[in-house]
Amino acid sequence: MSNDNSSIHEFDLGLICEYFSHLERQGPGSPEVTIKALSFIEKLGEEAKIADLGCGTGGQTMVLAQHTPGQIKGLDLFPTFIDLFNKNAQKYLLQKRVKGIVGSMAELPFHAEELDLIWSEGAIYNIGFERGLREWKAYLKPGGYLAVSEASWFTEERPQEIHDFWMDAYPGIDTIPNKMAQMQQAGYVPVASFILPENCWLEHFYKPQVGAQQTFLKNHAGNTAAEDFVANQRHEEKLYNKYKHFYGYVFYIGKKI
Ligand code: SAM
Repeated sequence: MSNDNSSIHEFDLGLICEYFSHLERQGPGSPEVTIKALSFIEKLGEEAKIADLGCGTGGQTMVLAQHTPGQIKGLDLFPTFIDLFNKNAQKYLLQKRVKGIVGSMAELPFHAEELDLIWSEGAIYNIGFERGLREWKAYLKPGGYLAVSEASWFTEERPQEIHDFWMDAYPGIDTIPNKMAQMQQAGYVPVASFILPENCWLEHFYKPQVGAQQTFLKNHAGNTAAEDFVANQRHEEKLYNKYKHFYGYVFYIGKKI
Protein backbone atom coordinates (compact mmCIF):
# COMPACT_ATOMS: atom_id res chain seq x y z
CA MET A 1 0.00 0.00 0.00
CA SER A 2 1.52 3.32 -0.97
CA ASN A 3 1.63 5.89 1.82
CA ASP A 4 1.24 8.82 -0.47
CA ASN A 5 -2.11 8.15 -2.01
CA SER A 6 -3.90 5.83 0.40
CA SER A 7 -7.10 7.25 1.76
CA ILE A 8 -8.67 6.42 5.10
CA HIS A 9 -11.21 3.98 3.63
CA GLU A 10 -8.43 1.54 2.71
CA PHE A 11 -7.25 1.02 6.30
CA ASP A 12 -8.31 -1.47 8.93
CA LEU A 13 -11.27 0.05 10.79
CA GLY A 14 -10.25 -1.46 14.13
CA LEU A 15 -6.88 0.27 13.95
CA ILE A 16 -8.44 3.59 12.93
CA CYS A 17 -10.89 3.39 15.83
CA GLU A 18 -8.12 2.66 18.30
CA TYR A 19 -5.99 5.53 16.96
CA PHE A 20 -8.81 8.09 17.19
CA SER A 21 -10.06 6.81 20.56
CA HIS A 22 -7.06 8.48 22.17
CA LEU A 23 -7.98 11.89 20.75
CA GLU A 24 -10.58 14.34 21.99
CA ARG A 25 -11.70 15.06 18.43
CA GLN A 26 -11.77 12.83 15.39
CA GLY A 27 -11.92 15.70 12.88
CA PRO A 28 -11.00 19.40 12.54
CA GLY A 29 -13.02 21.82 14.70
CA SER A 30 -12.90 23.72 17.99
CA PRO A 31 -15.18 24.75 20.86
CA GLU A 32 -15.22 28.33 19.49
CA VAL A 33 -16.43 27.16 16.09
CA THR A 34 -19.17 24.95 17.59
CA ILE A 35 -20.40 27.97 19.61
CA LYS A 36 -20.22 30.23 16.55
CA ALA A 37 -22.30 27.80 14.45
CA LEU A 38 -24.85 27.59 17.28
CA SER A 39 -25.16 31.40 17.31
CA PHE A 40 -26.94 31.27 13.91
CA ILE A 41 -29.70 29.04 15.31
CA GLU A 42 -32.79 30.37 17.08
CA LYS A 43 -32.78 29.69 20.83
CA LEU A 44 -33.85 26.17 21.74
CA GLY A 45 -35.74 25.24 24.91
CA GLU A 46 -35.30 22.37 27.37
CA GLU A 47 -37.68 20.19 25.36
CA ALA A 48 -35.71 20.60 22.12
CA LYS A 49 -34.52 17.39 20.52
CA ILE A 50 -31.07 17.48 18.99
CA ALA A 51 -29.10 14.79 17.14
CA ASP A 52 -25.33 14.88 16.58
CA LEU A 53 -24.64 12.50 13.69
CA GLY A 54 -21.19 10.92 13.38
CA CYS A 55 -20.49 12.29 16.87
CA GLY A 56 -17.31 10.26 17.49
CA THR A 57 -16.26 10.45 21.14
CA GLY A 58 -18.32 13.64 21.52
CA GLY A 59 -15.74 16.47 21.70
CA GLN A 60 -18.14 18.88 19.96
CA THR A 61 -21.30 17.34 21.49
CA MET A 62 -20.24 18.25 25.03
CA VAL A 63 -19.61 21.85 23.95
CA LEU A 64 -22.99 21.94 22.22
CA ALA A 65 -24.66 20.57 25.37
CA GLN A 66 -23.00 23.20 27.55
CA HIS A 67 -24.46 25.96 25.35
CA THR A 68 -27.97 24.71 24.68
CA PRO A 69 -30.49 23.19 27.09
CA GLY A 70 -32.09 20.47 24.90
CA GLN A 71 -31.96 16.68 24.87
CA ILE A 72 -29.06 15.48 22.72
CA LYS A 73 -28.54 12.09 21.11
CA GLY A 74 -25.09 11.43 19.68
CA LEU A 75 -25.04 8.74 17.01
CA ASP A 76 -21.99 6.94 15.65
CA LEU A 77 -21.31 3.71 13.81
CA PHE A 78 -18.54 2.61 16.19
CA PRO A 79 -19.37 1.22 19.66
CA THR A 80 -15.86 2.13 20.95
CA PHE A 81 -16.55 5.80 20.23
CA ILE A 82 -20.03 5.62 21.78
CA ASP A 83 -18.63 4.06 24.99
CA LEU A 84 -16.17 6.93 25.27
CA PHE A 85 -18.93 9.40 24.37
CA ASN A 86 -21.11 8.19 27.26
CA LYS A 87 -18.13 8.31 29.63
CA ASN A 88 -17.51 11.91 28.53
CA ALA A 89 -21.17 12.80 29.12
CA GLN A 90 -20.79 11.49 32.67
CA LYS A 91 -17.50 13.32 33.18
CA TYR A 92 -19.22 16.61 32.30
CA LEU A 93 -22.35 15.69 34.36
CA LEU A 94 -24.44 15.83 31.19
CA GLN A 95 -25.60 12.20 31.16
CA LYS A 96 -29.26 13.06 31.92
CA ARG A 97 -29.71 14.84 28.61
CA VAL A 98 -26.77 13.68 26.47
CA LYS A 99 -26.82 10.05 25.33
CA GLY A 100 -24.70 8.23 22.81
CA ILE A 101 -26.21 5.52 20.64
CA VAL A 102 -24.68 3.17 18.10
CA GLY A 103 -26.28 3.55 14.69
CA SER A 104 -25.86 4.61 11.10
CA MET A 105 -26.47 8.07 9.69
CA ALA A 106 -27.86 6.26 6.65
CA GLU A 107 -30.71 4.74 8.70
CA LEU A 108 -31.61 7.14 11.46
CA PRO A 109 -33.51 5.76 14.46
CA PHE A 110 -35.72 8.86 14.77
CA HIS A 111 -39.36 9.60 13.90
CA ALA A 112 -40.39 11.85 11.02
CA GLU A 113 -40.26 15.55 12.01
CA GLU A 114 -39.02 14.70 15.53
CA LEU A 115 -35.86 16.83 15.69
CA ASP A 116 -35.36 20.55 16.27
CA LEU A 117 -31.69 20.47 15.28
CA ILE A 118 -29.39 18.13 13.40
CA TRP A 119 -25.69 18.67 14.06
CA SER A 120 -22.81 16.93 12.29
CA GLU A 121 -19.16 18.01 12.38
CA GLY A 122 -16.86 16.54 9.76
CA ALA A 123 -19.00 13.44 9.28
CA ILE A 124 -21.71 13.96 6.61
CA TYR A 125 -19.13 13.02 3.93
CA ASN A 126 -19.63 9.40 5.02
CA ILE A 127 -22.91 9.31 3.11
CA GLY A 128 -22.25 12.42 1.00
CA PHE A 129 -23.37 16.00 1.59
CA GLU A 130 -26.33 16.03 -0.82
CA ARG A 131 -27.66 12.64 0.27
CA GLY A 132 -27.32 13.54 3.95
CA LEU A 133 -29.14 16.86 3.50
CA ARG A 134 -31.94 15.22 1.55
CA GLU A 135 -32.49 12.21 3.82
CA TRP A 136 -32.01 13.93 7.19
CA LYS A 137 -34.53 16.65 6.35
CA ALA A 138 -37.40 14.18 6.89
CA TYR A 139 -36.45 13.95 10.60
CA LEU A 140 -36.44 17.71 11.17
CA LYS A 141 -39.52 19.62 12.31
CA PRO A 142 -40.62 22.38 9.92
CA GLY A 143 -38.51 25.36 10.99
CA GLY A 144 -35.81 23.01 12.37
CA TYR A 145 -32.14 23.61 11.74
CA LEU A 146 -29.25 21.69 10.28
CA ALA A 147 -25.61 22.57 11.02
CA VAL A 148 -22.85 20.55 9.36
CA SER A 149 -19.16 21.05 8.66
CA GLU A 150 -17.84 19.76 5.37
CA ALA A 151 -14.64 19.76 3.29
CA SER A 152 -14.88 22.51 0.67
CA TRP A 153 -12.79 24.22 -1.99
CA PHE A 154 -12.04 27.90 -1.42
CA THR A 155 -11.17 28.65 -5.06
CA GLU A 156 -12.47 27.74 -8.51
CA GLU A 157 -9.10 26.21 -9.46
CA ARG A 158 -6.36 24.45 -7.53
CA PRO A 159 -3.04 22.64 -8.00
CA GLN A 160 -3.26 19.15 -9.50
CA GLU A 161 -1.70 17.39 -6.49
CA ILE A 162 -4.40 18.50 -4.05
CA HIS A 163 -7.15 18.09 -6.62
CA ASP A 164 -6.09 14.45 -7.16
CA PHE A 165 -5.84 13.81 -3.40
CA TRP A 166 -9.42 14.94 -2.80
CA MET A 167 -10.84 13.23 -5.87
CA ASP A 168 -9.57 9.98 -4.32
CA ALA A 169 -10.52 10.78 -0.69
CA TYR A 170 -13.88 12.50 -1.22
CA PRO A 171 -14.99 13.47 -4.73
CA GLY A 172 -18.03 15.20 -3.17
CA ILE A 173 -15.82 18.14 -2.13
CA ASP A 174 -17.07 21.31 -3.89
CA THR A 175 -16.89 25.10 -3.72
CA ILE A 176 -18.78 27.05 -1.04
CA PRO A 177 -21.35 28.58 -3.48
CA ASN A 178 -22.04 25.12 -4.92
CA LYS A 179 -22.54 23.61 -1.44
CA MET A 180 -24.88 26.50 -0.52
CA ALA A 181 -26.85 25.89 -3.71
CA GLN A 182 -27.08 22.18 -2.86
CA MET A 183 -28.45 23.12 0.55
CA GLN A 184 -31.11 25.32 -1.05
CA GLN A 185 -31.99 22.64 -3.62
CA ALA A 186 -32.44 20.11 -0.80
CA GLY A 187 -35.16 22.33 0.72
CA TYR A 188 -33.32 24.39 3.33
CA VAL A 189 -33.00 28.14 3.59
CA PRO A 190 -29.22 28.68 3.62
CA VAL A 191 -28.78 30.67 6.84
CA ALA A 192 -24.99 30.97 7.05
CA SER A 193 -21.66 29.52 6.06
CA PHE A 194 -18.22 30.21 7.46
CA ILE A 195 -14.73 28.81 7.02
CA LEU A 196 -13.21 27.06 10.03
CA PRO A 197 -10.01 28.88 11.05
CA GLU A 198 -6.66 27.14 10.64
CA ASN A 199 -6.33 26.45 14.37
CA CYS A 200 -9.20 23.93 14.02
CA TRP A 201 -6.79 21.81 11.96
CA LEU A 202 -3.40 22.68 13.40
CA GLU A 203 -4.04 23.02 17.14
CA HIS A 204 -7.18 20.94 17.64
CA PHE A 205 -6.66 18.15 15.12
CA TYR A 206 -3.04 17.63 14.05
CA LYS A 207 -1.16 18.73 17.19
CA PRO A 208 -2.83 16.22 19.55
CA GLN A 209 -2.01 13.49 17.01
CA VAL A 210 1.76 13.90 17.46
CA GLY A 211 1.83 12.18 20.87
CA ALA A 212 -0.96 9.78 19.91
CA GLN A 213 1.08 8.63 16.89
CA GLN A 214 4.13 7.82 19.02
CA THR A 215 2.07 5.72 21.44
CA PHE A 216 0.21 4.03 18.60
CA LEU A 217 3.43 3.11 16.77
CA LYS A 218 4.95 1.78 19.99
CA ASN A 219 1.87 -0.37 20.67
CA HIS A 220 1.91 -1.72 17.09
CA ALA A 221 5.66 -2.02 16.50
CA GLY A 222 6.29 -3.99 13.29
CA ASN A 223 2.67 -3.71 12.10
CA THR A 224 2.88 -2.30 8.56
CA ALA A 225 -0.82 -1.40 8.43
CA ALA A 226 -0.39 0.76 11.57
CA GLU A 227 2.79 2.34 10.15
CA ASP A 228 1.08 3.04 6.83
CA PHE A 229 -1.87 4.60 8.61
CA VAL A 230 0.34 6.98 10.62
CA ALA A 231 2.35 7.82 7.48
CA ASN A 232 -0.95 8.62 5.77
CA GLN A 233 -2.03 10.94 8.60
CA ARG A 234 1.32 12.73 8.43
CA HIS A 235 1.02 13.04 4.67
CA GLU A 236 -2.44 14.60 5.04
CA GLU A 237 -1.05 17.11 7.52
CA LYS A 238 1.75 18.04 5.08
CA LEU A 239 -0.80 18.52 2.31
CA TYR A 240 -2.92 20.70 4.56
CA ASN A 241 0.05 22.94 5.37
CA LYS A 242 0.98 23.17 1.70
CA TYR A 243 -2.50 23.77 0.27
CA LYS A 244 -4.56 25.30 3.09
CA HIS A 245 -5.38 28.34 0.95
CA PHE A 246 -7.27 26.11 -1.46
CA TYR A 247 -9.43 23.98 0.85
CA GLY A 248 -10.63 23.50 4.38
CA TYR A 249 -13.73 22.79 6.39
CA VAL A 250 -16.77 25.04 6.14
CA PHE A 251 -19.76 25.13 8.48
CA TYR A 252 -23.11 25.23 6.66
CA ILE A 253 -26.24 26.18 8.57
CA GLY A 254 -29.69 25.76 7.03
CA LYS A 255 -33.30 25.98 8.13
CA LYS A 256 -35.98 23.56 6.96
CA ILE A 257 -38.85 25.40 5.34
N1 SAM B 1 -17.91 14.67 14.78
C1 SAM B 1 -16.68 14.14 15.33
C2 SAM B 1 -15.64 15.24 15.42
O1 SAM B 1 -15.79 16.28 14.75
O2 SAM B 1 -14.67 15.06 16.17
C3 SAM B 1 -16.15 12.96 14.51
C4 SAM B 1 -15.76 13.26 13.09
S1 SAM B 1 -14.97 11.87 12.29
C5 SAM B 1 -14.06 12.66 11.01
C6 SAM B 1 -16.31 11.08 11.43
C7 SAM B 1 -17.20 10.21 12.32
O3 SAM B 1 -18.24 9.63 11.55
C8 SAM B 1 -16.46 9.06 13.00
O4 SAM B 1 -16.70 9.11 14.38
C9 SAM B 1 -17.07 7.81 12.37
O5 SAM B 1 -17.10 6.71 13.24
C10 SAM B 1 -18.46 8.30 12.03
N2 SAM B 1 -19.15 7.53 10.98
C11 SAM B 1 -18.64 7.04 9.83
N3 SAM B 1 -19.61 6.47 9.08
C12 SAM B 1 -20.76 6.58 9.80
C13 SAM B 1 -22.12 6.18 9.58
N4 SAM B 1 -22.48 5.56 8.46
N5 SAM B 1 -23.02 6.46 10.53
C14 SAM B 1 -22.68 7.09 11.68
N6 SAM B 1 -21.42 7.51 11.94
C15 SAM B 1 -20.48 7.26 11.02
